[in-house]
Amino acid sequence: MKKYFYFILFVFFFSCNETEKESTTPQMKTPKVAIALHGGAGNLKKLKLTKEEEEAYTHFMDSLIESGHQALLNGAKSIDVVATIVSAMEDSPLFNAGKGAVFAHSGKNEMDAAIMNGADMSCGAVAGVTRVKNPIQLANDIRQHSEFIFLHGLGAEEYAAERNIELIDPSYFFTQKRWDQFQEALEKDSTSLDHEKPEGKSEGKYGTVGCVALDLEGNLAAATSTGGLVNKKYQRIGDSPLIGAGTYANNESCAVSCTGKGEDFIRYTAASSIASRIQYLKEPADSAAHVVLFDYIKKNKGRGGCIVVLPSGELTFLFTTTGMYRAGIDANGKKTVAIYE
Ligand code: ASP
Repeated sequence: MKKYFYFILFVFFFSCNETEKESTTPQMKTPKVAIALHGGAGNLKKLKLTKEEEEAYTHFMDSLIESGHQALLNGAKSIDVVATIVSAMEDSPLFNAGKGAVFAHSGKNEMDAAIMNGADMSCGAVAGVTRVKNPIQLANDIRQHSEFIFLHGLGAEEYAAERNIELIDPSYFFTQKRWDQFQEALEKDSTSLDHEKPEGKSEGKYGTVGCVALDLEGNLAAATSTGGLVNKKYQRIGDSPLIGAGTYANNESCAVSCTGKGEDFIRYTAASSIASRIQYLKEPADSAAHVVLFDYIKKNKGRGGCIVVLPSGELTFLFTTTGMYRAGIDANGKKTVAIYE
């Protein structure tokens, strides 16, 4: 009988402990948020930015990252935050996306964008749009409301009109700086990244914008937007709108946004290769990004960079160039705002 009594006591104690565990576990887990953005990678040192220009970039990136971080802390979804941040970058003439997009050989601003939600793998993408004020908003609408994932050119604009996404006269995208850069590229017959000096035929400049984030619910998201390469021909499309090349998010691995000469990022499906190495090989994010950017892309004379966020809220910023406009706040609250190596 005594034995039986002790047994009941043991079961009672154990079950109380279990109940306590169940009720305290969710509270003990501190929810984390993290966010990173980039404004393109390239040989930025050669640009010799003035102090004022450097300040304009760092101030803008700093305030954006702070507002994105605050929104996440307030419970905003990562997918909404990346769309909002990239949209704000598209509205700035500082970056090669939206308002600051470079000119293609056609004399138009042909823009590409993509967005992906790591929670449910929903994604949307657009390429070659010339009249959409915020291509990332169009991509996000496609993600949410279309049976398709990737729309191009006039068809994408027709969809935008049907969905009341803001269309604008292409003259909105004219900036003297981008026009002069285009004239220089035309003279040299070069195709270049937007924030490097054209160095000769088929030399490039990269200046895309992107954002990755982790929200309080543990969901990851990525968004990328670009005007592509200066003087690009034949309605060329880069890596940015290609899911798995320039943009990727999956709660099982990470969220990634890339920048660089898109051809190399397409060849190596850069963003999803980084994610797969993390998921299947259990590599740390910086090693996975290093293999893809340096061992594959740089070895084959490609150049560029990426930002990665893990479900733990750890951030990776990596680039093979002399700089990448970048900012972030990781899960420990550590802030980065930088341009050069
Ligand atoms: N990745 C973009 C493209 O190739 C360019 C960039 O990152 O600046 O279109």
